[in-house]
Amino acid sequence: MTRLGVCGWPVAHSRSPQMHNAALAHLGLSTWRYQKLPIPPHLFEATVRALPDAGFRGVNVTIPHKEAALQLADAATETAQAIGAANTLTFEADGRIHADNTDATGFLSPLKTPVYDQTALVLGAGGSARAVVYALKQAGAKEIRVWNRTKERAQALADEFGATTGDEPGEIIVNCTSIGLHDPSATFKALPLRADDLCVGRTVVDLVYRNGGTLLLNTAKANGAEVVDGLEILVAQGAASLERWTGRTAPDQAMREAVVDIAAP
Ligand code: NDP
Repeated sequence: MTRLGVCGWPVAHSRSPQMHNAALAHLGLSTWRYQKLPIPPHLFEATVRALPDAGFRGVNVTIPHKEAALQLADAATETAQAIGAANTLTFEADGRIHADNTDATGFLSPLKTPVYDQTALVLGAGGSARAVVYALKQAGAKEIRVWNRTKERAQALADEFGATTGDEPGEIIVNCTSIGLHDPSATFKALPLRADDLCVGRTVVDLVYRNGGTLLLNTAKANGAEVVDGLEILVAQGAASLERWTGRTAPDQAMREAVVDIAAP
């Protein structure tokens, strides 16, 4: 048995096992399995180091372990180093641990409009916002503004990646906060946006996903904006991880169907 998994604390809510196991089945990798690995922070490093001997080829890493994952790796991609966090670890045959961050490509690949020369507003300054700001910068965005509830965090993120702070909508608007996940009615109260801002000519991306779509995305869609659902980003980052571990092209459609089926709440 070749094992894969997702390390987090908590990790019960993760849709990655269903998504990856559907992909493994589709690829005919019948001796591979992907599982949840709930690991508290103080046990993270020791547990990860024991995983290769337990048959693991690699793991995804989610909150709160992404920085620790990068730190324990023997080698890391330029992307993971620049973001300062890893969401994918690969256990190589020679015993080395390799770190990558597929959140950046996971954000960029579902976008239909090229980012180059566009203005962008990023809402949030947490882990996913770091990956998104880095990705926008790499893809040549003309101007990136960062807004966050806690202003100091927005400023620190903007300073680090050569962006600015502000809340003026850009041609691309990305929600990297958890707003809209549990209480849709908070969306336009907590975020510095009006429904009219989400209009034709703009691309609206919501990292949050829920059954029936978020209020932010549904409003943007109704107003004629181009939209990218968080589920597409989940699939794209997962596909990139799976390709790293298996060397096979990920079956995007099988992965999409598996997460749509179980999307919650
Ligand atoms: P973090 O915990 O690192 O950051 C959370 C962000 O949300 C911070 O900017 C925080 O602001 C903000 N926030 C939280 N509560 C509020 C509130 N009540 N009002 C305003 N802002 C608030 O999380 P991540 O960056 O990892 O994830 C953010 C969201 O994106 C989550 O909902 C997650 O599920 C989703 N996500 C989706 C992915 C996908 O594949 N689709 C991948 C990664 C994340 P402050 O700094 O002020 O606390």
